[in-house]
Amino acid sequence: MLPEMEKRATKALIYTDNLRHNLKAVKSLIKAETKICGAVKADGYGHGAVEVSKILLAEGIDCLGVSAVSEGGELREAGIKAPILLFGHADPDELAGICRWKLQPFAGTLSYIKSLEKAAEKTGKTLKIHLKVDTGMGRIGCPPAEAPEIGAYIQASPFLKLQGTCTHFPVSDSISKEDREFTAEQIHLFLHTVDEVRRAGVDPGLIHAANSGAVASWPDAHFDMVRPGIILYGYYPDPAMKRPRQLKPVMQLESSISFLKEIEAGKSVSYGRSWVSRKRSLIGTIPVGYADGYNRLLSNRAEVVIRGKRYPLAGRICMDQTMIDLGSPGDEKFENRDYSDITVGEKVILFGQDESAPCAQELGMITGTIPYEVTCAVSKRVPRIYL
Ligand SMILES: *Cc1c(COP(=O)(O)O)cnc(C)c1O
Repeated sequence: MLPEMEKRATKALIYTDNLRHNLKAVKSLIKAETKICGAVKADGYGHGAVEVSKILLAEGIDCLGVSAVSEGGELREAGIKAPILLFGHADPDELAGICRWKLQPFAGTLSYIKSLEKAAEKTGKTLKIHLKVDTGMGRIGCPPAEAPEIGAYIQASPFLKLQGTCTHFPVSDSISKEDREFTAEQIHLFLHTVDEVRRAGVDPGLIHAANSGAVASWPDAHFDMVRPGIILYGYYPDPAMKRPRQLKPVMQLESSISFLKEIEAGKSVSYGRSWVSRKRSLIGTIPVGYADGYNRLLSNRAEVVIRGKRYPLAGRICMDQTMIDLGSPGDEKFENRDYSDITVGEKVILFGQDESAPCAQELGMITGTIPYEVTCAVSKRVPRIYL
């Protein structure tokens, strides 16, 4: 990071104590002997994979999960020695990287496994693999009936080791009856599959399945290891689900007022002229826009927080700047607001752990998405400041 970058008013503060708090919450939901694989894909859901990984490992988690080979490489280059699971399916050109960085891929087809075996053979070292069974996610993984044969192939290979057997849940966070039945069936099918693997004389290794939804709602699916992601960053995957523990958002996106002006009634603000002042109004500009990951769909809909009070956006979010309606003198609606008080340099919170600020869940509801996407979207231009 260039030194100038850290001086930018727009920054993502990372509350590392909240990360530790959320990990404690996860630990309190699982048995002491259950291992934890922290999902740090997508740059730790936007929080910074290297920093997040170091903190989680220092707090005793067992391994890390990434989606792209390059993400695993980044952690290794940063000196991280812990096991790294590769959740995603690698491309043929990436297989050498898997071996070089000792990533443990999820694999579910013999052809992929054979290409991994070839790559491992070239290095002369054994590659640890997790047999991925598709019990209902419909993404990657083998049909349950093929698991014993594939497991046997991995076990017989001198260059592969079956380190684990796993599956993934699409609706473990849902409270609907139909979805709960679907997950219950997945768990049943997965356990049956693991049994069949054993009956074929294959040691399935670590059994794992639980994402955040299952960590919180499906203790029967914790098995040997859980793979929480979003819950570590302070959010439940679905706002409707039961919340067995209180979580704390880890990221807070902040900026500060860079420009202030008063405008007369009837003046429009920003592209498209979608916002027009009804009265004389104080308009603040902040140097943050959709290029920073502040979704343009929040235009005229989201609120920001200044000194514990909420203010609405005025007009479209631009690529790099956004305007705020700071109120009108004498306007009843704004009677409690410090109309004249606000100055250039005033801190503005866009979302995060601050009590009065929207959280990523709230912003996601406005734009029709999930907190995952809100924190992942915060772009490279925004420095992460670790507190
Ligand atoms: C992302 C991911 C997880 C973590 O999911 P959360 O919903 O964030 O807890 C676990 N397992 C796999 C395979 C994943 O891709």
